[in-house]
Amino acid sequence: MKKSNTISNLSLNKAVFFDRDGTINSDEGHYYIYKPEDFVFNPGVIEGMKRLQTAGYLLFVITNQGGIAKGIYTREDVAKVHARMCKELTAEGVSITKIYYCPHHESIKTCVCRKPSPYMVNLAIEEFHIDKKHSWFIGDSSKDVKCAEAAGVKPIRIHKNQDITAAIDQILKNKN
Ligand SMILES: [Mg+2]
Ligand SMILES: [Zn+2]
Repeated sequence: MKKSNTISNLSLNKAVFFDRDGTINSDEGHYYIYKPEDFVFNPGVIEGMKRLQTAGYLLFVITNQGGIAKGIYTREDVAKVHARMCKELTAEGVSITKIYYCPHHESIKTCVCRKPSPYMVNLAIEEFHIDKKHSWFIGDSSKDVKCAEAAGVKPIRIHKNQDITAAIDQILKNKN
């Protein structure tokens, strides 16, 4: 009798999802990061992303940008910040597969995508055939942890602006 083979599993990708502010880049917490010149990588991020990429992980950014809904900055500002981030990463040989952001804020209008909703992670899982069991989410907020758990990927919570190297080590010591 033929075994029904789960052929789709063969093409699944593993991924690491990153929160942005406070995780990838410095976030002092008292103002929004929407100017490219205010975007500063946290220690260990670029090297850590390189190591993950070398180990075969796709890299994603999952970020709440509620300042758009509040009228503090625009989608264009966000695009400029992301262009700067990606330019610096590309120069180091790191490529982010896709950045997802929620432009909404519950103080203006509720939405389906804002973390802790797993919506944005689920979109990536669908679009890029991600193997949830072998994927991770690194973030500095309880919202990131809840989002990861709801999406079925493994959360790692770091302290805001912490050197991310220990989190990367934790992922890479798991042989998957
Ligand atoms: Mg954060
Ligand atoms: Zn949203």
